[in-house]
Amino acid sequence: MARLTLALSAVLIAFTVAGVQSQRPPAGTSHQGKAYRFNKVADGVYHAIGTGALAVVGNSSVIVNDDDVIVVDDHVSPAAAWVLLQELKDITSKPVRTVVNTHFHFDHAHGNQIFDKDVAIIGHEFTREMLTGGKSIEMPLFKNYLAGIPRQIEDLKKRIAAEPDRGKKSELEKQLRVAENNSASQAELKPTPPNVTLQTRMTLHRRFAGTDREIQIRFLGRAHTAGDVVVYLPNEKIVCTGDMLTAGLSNMSDAFVNEWPGTLDELKKLDFVTVLPGHGDAFNDRSKIDYFQAYLRDVWTEVTRLKQQGVSAEEAAKRADLTRHKDHFPIQGPGVPLIAVARIYDVIDRAGGRD
Ligand SMILES: [Zn+2]
Repeated sequence: MARLTLALSAVLIAFTVAGVQSQRPPAGTSHQGKAYRFNKVADGVYHAIGTGALAVVGNSSVIVNDDDVIVVDDHVSPAAAWVLLQELKDITSKPVRTVVNTHFHFDHAHGNQIFDKDVAIIGHEFTREMLTGGKSIEMPLFKNYLAGIPRQIEDLKKRIAAEPDRGKKSELEKQLRVAENNSASQAELKPTPPNVTLQTRMTLHRRFAGTDREIQIRFLGRAHTAGDVVVYLPNEKIVCTGDMLTAGLSNMSDAFVNEWPGTLDELKKLDFVTVLPGHGDAFNDRSKIDYFQAYLRDVWTEVTRLKQQGVSAEEAAKRADLTRHKDHFPIQGPGVPLIAVARIYDVIDRAGGRD
C-alpha cells in the first residue's frame, strides 16, 4: 500500500511539475507517431507544428528558460494541448509555468483548460472577455469549424468504403481516426480564459543559459481580432505573431481589416529577424509583411466599394477581386470568403452608427 501510495504520488508530482491538471488524460489523445515537430529556431526557442497525426490546427511556440517553460498558444483542443506537453518532454524536463494566448481563437486557446490553476495564462483583456461565458464558441468561425467535423467524418467514411487501393484506404482511415479523436476532444471543451491580462504590454524576465532573457508581450493595435498580442524576444530577435501575421493569408472573421495594416506598421518597428507565425512555417522575409498589408488594404477598398454600390455580402464575396495579389498568396480567382465580407460589412455599419 505504501509503495502504491508512493507510486501514485510520483505520478501526481510528475503531472504537477509539468503544469498539467492532475486528472486523467482528456479524450481523443491517441495517435500514431509524433503529433508535433519542434523546429529549433534559436537556443531554447522552438516552433511547434502539427504533423497531421493529431488535429492541432494552429502552431505553438516554446520558450525554454533556465527554470521554466513558456508556451505561446495551446492549439485546438484539450487533447492537442495535453499531447503537446507530453511531447515537450522530448526537448525539456522543465515545467510549463506560463502560457500566452496570442488571441482568443479556438485553434490557439482551446487547450487552456488542461493547465493547472497555478499556471499563468496570459492574454489581452479582450481575449479574456471572449473566452469567458462561452462568447468565443458562439462566433461563426468556431461554429463553422465544429459543424464541419461530423461532415468530415461522414465524408471520410464514404471515401474509405469506395476506395479500392489499400494504401490510399489506410491513409483515409488514419485521417478518420484523427477526425474522430478531434470530435471526442471537442466534446470535452470548456473554454478557459487567461487568468492574467494586459492592455498594451507586459514583460517577463527570465534567465536562460545564465543570462537575462526578456519576453515582451505586446498589443500593437487591433488586427486579426481586437486583442492580438505578439510575443517578442529582443535578444533572440524573434517574434511570435499568432494570426496577425502568418505564412500565408489569415482569416478575417473577427478582424479590423481597416486597422490591420497600421498595426503591422507597429510590428515592423520591432527589431526582429525571425517570425514564428500561428500558421505555416517560420520565416525571415520581412517583405511578406508588405505584401500582406497591400492585400488587406485592397480587400478593404474592394469590399467597401461593393458595399457602397449596394451589392449584397454574398454577391460581394464572389465578386471582390484580389487576383492581383496571386503572386504572393494562394489566390485562384475572384472571390473572398463570405465570413470575411460579412465581417467587413458589419465593421462599416458599426462605424456608421447603424449598430
Ligand atoms: Zn485566429
